[in-house]
Amino acid sequence: MRKDSLRRLYVDELRDLYSAEIQLVKALPKMAKTASNAELRQTFEEHLRQTAEQVSRLEQIFDLLEEKPTGRKCLGMEGLVKEAAETMQEKYGGAVRDAAIIGAAQRVEHYEIAGYGTVRAFADLLGENQHVSLIDQTLAEEKQADELLTQLGEGINSQAADQEDEGDEPNGRDSNAGGKGRRAA
Ligand code: FE
Ligand code: ZN
Ligand code: FE
Repeated sequence: MRKDSLRRLYVDELRDLYSAEIQLVKALPKMAKTASNAELRQTFEEHLRQTAEQVSRLEQIFDLLEEKPTGRKCLGMEGLVKEAAETMQEKYGGAVRDAAIIGAAQRVEHYEIAGYGTVRAFADLLGENQHVSLIDQTLAEEKQADELLTQLGEGINSQAADQEDEGDEPNGRDSNAGGKGRRAA
């Protein structure tokens, strides 16, 4: 059958997204807890609920495909979650920390939007209309989350711009020089 190898790629990409969402279910509570702005915290809590829904939508697609969702690890999400954790450990406080978390979270949303956009196109081509409508629901949530973060970021970034530096290290940038992790440049 002509479309068999595209279908295999489609299933692999769906497994990648499944792994990404599962990783995010574990990471979002920490991001919510670390956020100092109440609205930002609520945004993460709400997105955690949506993310659990997104996991179940993917499971519905796998049921329709009669395939297993597991067997692949999303390395992109692993990296993004690690960067978010790194950002939260740095010595930023208050609005500056929130601004940093928003930056990490928006990377996650953009990554997911790209991944779902890809599988949506494949599902469409493969004539999987039921999948397309499930994917569209998730895509709408990811885009909405990204939008919300942009809006919240406007207020939080300007608070961050006015914030006194309370840390011992100005900028907190070189605070873990010699430590592992942060890129040199
Ligand atoms: Fe998601
Ligand atoms: Zn991935
Ligand atoms: Fe998301």
